[in-house]
Amino acid sequence: MKVDSRRICQLFREMADFLSIKGENPFRIRAYEKAAEAIEHLPGDLENLYKKGELKNIPGIGKGMIEKIGTILHTGTLPAYEELKKEIPRGVVELLSIPEMGPKTVKLLYEKVGIKNIEDLEKFVNSQKLRHLPGMGAKTEENIKRGIELYKASRSRILLGKALPMVKEVMEELKKKASSLIERISTAGSLRRGKETIGDVDILVSSRKPSLVIDSFVELPFVKDVLAKGETKSSILTHQGLQIDLRVVEPDSFGAALQYFTGSKSHNIVLRERAIKRGLKINEYGVFTEKGEKKAGETEEGIYRYLDLSYIPPELRENRGEFEAAERGKLPHLIEEREIKGDLHIHTEASDGSNSIEELIEKAREKNYEYIGITDHSSSLRVGRGLSREALLSQIKKIERINSHLKGFQVLKGSEVDILKDGTLDYPDEILRRLDIVIIALHTGFKQDRETITNRIIKAMQNPYAQILAHPTGRLLGEREAYSLNMEKVLEVAKDRGIWLEINAQPQRLDLTDVWIMEAKKRGIKLVINTDAHHKEGLDMISLGVITARRGWLEKKDVINTLTLNELSKLLCKK
Ligand SMILES: [Zn+2]
Ligand SMILES: [Zn+2]
Repeated sequence: MKVDSRRICQLFREMADFLSIKGENPFRIRAYEKAAEAIEHLPGDLENLYKKGELKNIPGIGKGMIEKIGTILHTGTLPAYEELKKEIPRGVVELLSIPEMGPKTVKLLYEKVGIKNIEDLEKFVNSQKLRHLPGMGAKTEENIKRGIELYKASRSRILLGKALPMVKEVMEELKKKASSLIERISTAGSLRRGKETIGDVDILVSSRKPSLVIDSFVELPFVKDVLAKGETKSSILTHQGLQIDLRVVEPDSFGAALQYFTGSKSHNIVLRERAIKRGLKINEYGVFTEKGEKKAGETEEGIYRYLDLSYIPPELRENRGEFEAAERGKLPHLIEEREIKGDLHIHTEASDGSNSIEELIEKAREKNYEYIGITDHSSSLRVGRGLSREALLSQIKKIERINSHLKGFQVLKGSEVDILKDGTLDYPDEILRRLDIVIIALHTGFKQDRETITNRIIKAMQNPYAQILAHPTGRLLGEREAYSLNMEKVLEVAKDRGIWLEINAQPQRLDLTDVWIMEAKKRGIKLVINTDAHHKEGLDMISLGVITARRGWLEKKDVINTLTLNELSKLLCKK
């Protein structure tokens, strides 16, 4: 039998958890943890190494562990593991993931009080009973309460940029494993709509043999826990803590199910009302007449068409005017990633990035770009290892040298210039004048009051060399709120001065946000989608920026970096 090495890793980690709850010998526990770590970073196929007897050369895997690996490879599991799994409920093991909950506390609460999961623990803490247990107290109780909140918050939302690659991999594996069974496959829910953070992931498959698809799904190597398994539906938890729900539907209902499970809720409510007005019924199986005759359902296009609407792309399904536009055939031609011609916000090893200009050019050319803007931090930003004036001047010379050898590609000389406390810029005008791209950015004083921050940014936007306002709201998802800012005013000045607003594609930023992007577009302000990459692979994050731009209804013509090198150069000359 073929056992995935990730499965063995996971089994060893669970063994360590079980044993620590049981209060076993720490060396035994550590042996499992060390082996799991070693397997995770193994330089080759585990089964091969085992068969060739080469595992003994791997540090971290002792003789006892090699035997256990052999047992798992032959039988798929360990007898001791199966017994402990019966003995200790899954919810108890999960308690270990809560900050402030060590194995001793988990053991005490499980054995003495009978707490079997987070819900039990929450009730117990809220009734202030925990403080009276031996060795506890009000302080510990308070800490655990906070720990539960933190754990729940981290468990409930995940960044789009983190979820997307994981889900892609899961879908690839599922397609490979069940290729003969699957007709169509797609994500649904908030992931498909491109929301910046998502709860759980929905995958939808059409197949004539649903239960076989479900069987393949729950056996994928990513699966840590099977939370639910039915004939047409299953929920699993991956090793990275992502919950994925799979639904399998009949091929002639695929479009209806996809539409239904993509949402959003408020979009679907309007669609349903529209159907009712026409004497129709719409649900996850299709569009039906009062007599129950099915009129659409195989494709999403068919559903919208039957309700007299043009096809509404998932990113627009938020009930923000998409129905009115679809009725009149006025939906935007949303921007696509292949229309991006360059990236205007990139850091190199000269500041806090990790690649050279040459390496970045290579990566950019692979992406069929025509230009990149090199924009390291300015001198006052110590944490960003900002460039002194001299360093910037020598970088400018270097770029000019590089450009003289390039054909059909150009490196633009730029800087991400800090907006100082008083709203002035971090380099004097005689330096800014020598740059092609001047990005202005706020990296300090986030806690200032609304008026102070707004005025600082507006003053900086009035500098004649300022071109792009980077990450305009300053939010870091899950870490920092947007700073208090009068965005209306910022938009006014941007329009007035012809400043381009950035859509920063970093997964934690995605800033400007969709709602403000729509507002900027309404006012005729141009936007630019930048990755703010600090290493060359970071250039691939552009896709997240494009998704965000699409959620803000942007078209090619709204986005500066869809211009060709020629067009952009002319525009920069004029500025
Ligand atoms: Zn920045
Ligand atoms: Zn930056």
